[in-house]
Amino acid sequence: MSKLQFDGGWEYAPAPESTDHIEVNERYGLFIGGEFVEPASGEYFATTNPATEQQLSSVAAAGTEDVDRAVRAARNGYDKYWSKLSAADRGKYIFRIARMLQERAREFAVIESLDGGKPIRESRDIDIPLAAAHFFYYAGWADKLDYAYPGRNVRPLGVAGQIIPWNFPLLMAAWKIAPALACGNTVVLKPAETTPLTALKLAELVRDADLPPGVVNIVTGAGDTGAAIVDHGDVDKVAFTGSTAVGRAIMERLAGQDKKYTLELGGKAANIIFADAAIDQAVEGIVNGIFFNQGHVCCAGSRLLVQESVADEVIAKLRDRMETLIVGDPLDKNTDIGAINSAAQLERIEHYLKLGRSEGADVYQSSVPVPKQGYWCRPTLFTGVSQSNRVVQEEIFGPVLAIQTFRTFGEALEKANNTPYGLSGGVWTDKGAKIFRMTQGIRAGVVWANTFNKFDPTSPFGGYKESGVGREGGLHGLSAYLDLVAGEAA
Ligand code: NAP
Ligand code: MG
Repeated sequence: MSKLQFDGGWEYAPAPESTDHIEVNERYGLFIGGEFVEPASGEYFATTNPATEQQLSSVAAAGTEDVDRAVRAARNGYDKYWSKLSAADRGKYIFRIARMLQERAREFAVIESLDGGKPIRESRDIDIPLAAAHFFYYAGWADKLDYAYPGRNVRPLGVAGQIIPWNFPLLMAAWKIAPALACGNTVVLKPAETTPLTALKLAELVRDADLPPGVVNIVTGAGDTGAAIVDHGDVDKVAFTGSTAVGRAIMERLAGQDKKYTLELGGKAANIIFADAAIDQAVEGIVNGIFFNQGHVCCAGSRLLVQESVADEVIAKLRDRMETLIVGDPLDKNTDIGAINSAAQLERIEHYLKLGRSEGADVYQSSVPVPKQGYWCRPTLFTGVSQSNRVVQEEIFGPVLAIQTFRTFGEALEKANNTPYGLSGGVWTDKGAKIFRMTQGIRAGVVWANTFNKFDPTSPFGGYKESGVGREGGLHGLSAYLDLVAGEAA
């Protein structure tokens, strides 16, 4: 229901999603060997709601000893149960997880928004359904691996150590766990420090789904916990999603070890608008690409390259649209931009806002109101920037868009490729031929045309250059969890 105002505009009446139906424990242990256990150190840390700065729960801090216990549980789960099951039975367990996730979708969506700050519309319509879709998709592959790789023997790797970031907590857990289990591996997963709750809820769900003990283990903690997983001698594969800095450190640590690995890292994607594009749709796509999820998206369209002849029109339309975006309560169904995930991330974004100004950029911020409590950032544009500016080169991971113009196709392509990253890109034009030329020229793992930030479990995802190593999703995502040996299928 909308309420009319007489000061020139109108606004929606609040429509908060209820929290009555969710259950969050005061404290969570580590999920090891099918049960929640105390951490060896007895230490716990708080996870808070970034929209209110209030504590939601305490979660266990896993040390080296706990990680060792989790890896041993995973090895035991592999030797005793998971590797003994038929592939079809493995698939049935994963289907069960997918179905239970669908049944409990509302609860997971609310907890995701409470713990991480993202708008309920996104956790409800994107994160949770996509997480379930990944479990469904990979469940289907479990007993068809020989068909996926004809003429080759497929063997699981063993124990996978998996480390995920805070921007899509449950979805990243699904990207990691579903293909690993489908291929016959067992896992030890570490969620991010600021968003552990949906992974812990998933642990409860795994327990309710009666998975054999040790097949899925969830250990919470900070960076050290992740490092202990990477360094553990009995982990066969490391799957990491996070920043390029940490990814690089992990790669160095892995250099002397015999482990397979995949790294999904940062990005600085360009959305390219040609003068012949459908401008209104393109503007909506740009808004979706960078302000969606507070810009906490690795493949966010954080740069805009717009053809000079339509630049004024596009920027004017963007500004108008930004004035209508609602920043605030993540649980409100009208909210477009929720809370910044943590005080540390807000500080990082504000550092870049200052940096942009000192580099000579013009800064435009929408005038929408933001709540007093919590961590917020209004949608922001940088114009008047040049290719060498740090705000054009570096990942900010906030609702901040750097805008540049171009005249020719070649100039657009060169600018698009001129960053250390190569995760994604977008092109907006009426001409199919231009789409093909541009998508072939952009050195990035995913390029969208006349749309942005669309995901599907069947489609591989991953980066070029400093955006990572390996692919997740689709068949590529399966092969990352298998040893593929030449010869007849077993
Ligand atoms: P991050 O600081 O690199 O952290 C990622 C995960 O690694 C967290 O669980 C973190 O624990 C852990 N970690 C920190 N230091 C570690 C170490 N030395 N060894 C092992 N693990 C360690 O990244 P973030 O700030 O959480 O996430 C944002 C970044 O992720 C962005 O750069 C974004 O582009 C990237 N990302 C990429 C993709 C992709 O698919 N390419 C998807 C999503 C996000 P703590 O939480 O305790 O720090
Ligand atoms: Mg939190």
